[in-house]
Amino acid sequence: MDFELTPKQQDLIERAGLLGREKFAGRAERYDAEASFPYENYDDLRDNGLLGLCVPEEHGGLGADFPTYCMVSAEIGRYCGSTALTYNMHACSMLWSGTMTDQLDMSNEQRDRHAEAQALHFKRVVKDGAIYAQPFSEGNASAAGRAPFGTLAKKVDGGYVLNGKKIFASLADAADYFGILCTEDVDNASRKDTIYLAVPRNSEGFEVTGPWDPLGMRGTVSRTLLLNDVFVPEENELMPRGVYFQAANRWPHMFMTLAPTYMGLAQAAYDFTVKYLRGEVEGMPPIKRRQFPTKQLATAEMFVKLEQTRALFMRAIGEAKQDPSKEERMRAWAAQYTIMENANDLARLAIRTCGGQSMLKNLPLERIYRDSRCGSLMLPLTAELCLDRLGKEALYNLGETDD
Ligand SMILES: Cc1cc2nc3c(=O)[nH]c(=O)nc-3n(C[C@H](O)[C@H](O)[C@H](O)COP(=O)(O)OP(=O)(O)OC[C@H]3O[C@@H](n4cnc5c(N)ncnc54)[C@H](O)[C@@H]3O)c2cc1C
Repeated sequence: MDFELTPKQQDLIERAGLLGREKFAGRAERYDAEASFPYENYDDLRDNGLLGLCVPEEHGGLGADFPTYCMVSAEIGRYCGSTALTYNMHACSMLWSGTMTDQLDMSNEQRDRHAEAQALHFKRVVKDGAIYAQPFSEGNASAAGRAPFGTLAKKVDGGYVLNGKKIFASLADAADYFGILCTEDVDNASRKDTIYLAVPRNSEGFEVTGPWDPLGMRGTVSRTLLLNDVFVPEENELMPRGVYFQAANRWPHMFMTLAPTYMGLAQAAYDFTVKYLRGEVEGMPPIKRRQFPTKQLATAEMFVKLEQTRALFMRAIGEAKQDPSKEERMRAWAAQYTIMENANDLARLAIRTCGGQSMLKNLPLERIYRDSRCGSLMLPLTAELCLDRLGKEALYNLGETDD
């Protein structure tokens, strides 16, 4: 990858950074304490055009490609993990159904219909300021990509009728549309029958339910969704029938879009440590601790870990494309694993290095520590499943088995 940022990338990252520094950082403590959604941050994102980050320019958006999205998202993650993680769900709904699908195989009829659907989704975001969520998880093997989704879509005149349940639906209280992955209700349905539909919040039979009081990423408000005979018009397809299955196989990087949030948290843990040891953290007495060789060594180790993480992140996002090579695919999983594990490890090292006062609730570090814990639990590329895929790909060629 060319590591030189384009002027457009620099501008977008700076736009996100300015919001992060001036607005998001100061609000993060409240959203975390209340486990409430960062509505004000989304108003700011909307006002600054950033809800349309991944909407193509010809549809009025900012036209960010995959690596640009990742870098903008990482910048937001430095200031508020929950905002970055939920922004991933929204921005990537546009990326996935937008530029990412453009090169996939479709019939002419599908391509025409998809262009109409894309225009509809893009307009909702750019003109109406709509927010999209990405609730896939069901508490079964489907979100790991090992079984068809249990939420079923029955084809009816003009659309589908959906029945099922989604857990951990980030943006549950805030999204206007929920990008639901479901299986078409046909005989012997398989993962190839996956359908990806935007369900409007106000649909009859659609309900947000259950409490939300987790360890970290509390502002994501990832509650449960129930779908009981919900009719969804065909025009709400986010991808044509069969295309999600193709995308999931041919675009492995599409599942590493959660990682930038955690890259941002890793950076935040390091930034905090440097500021703290220099005696520059707001709200704390200006006591310096940087003069101790133990602190210098610990910070050096953190810097090495951060740079190792960032190097893999930048390389992997630069390689994202349809049909990557085996090495590129494996590197995406290695990057995902490294970012998710190292973010939490850097937060741990930050607390260990800065000391007891650094983990008080009025400072961001203990929130960063809890938020960063969530990354390696997120399907389909949990830390365990990354290793599982890497081990198999490293030792087996396509189609090879042991008799
Ligand atoms: C803060 C937060 C926000 C979230 N937001 C969203 C969201 O917006 N949309 C969404 O769809 N999901 C979301 N999730 C859910 C997330 O992606 C996972 O689905 C969820 O964390 C899985 O939890 P579980 O206990 O059901 O995992 P389980 O399915 O019980 O799995 C537990 C562990 O077992 C391993 N495992 C799972 N399946 C297999 C398998 N087939 N083979 C081998 N090992 C396996 C994995 O390593 C996994 O971590 C969110 C999660 C969190 C923490």
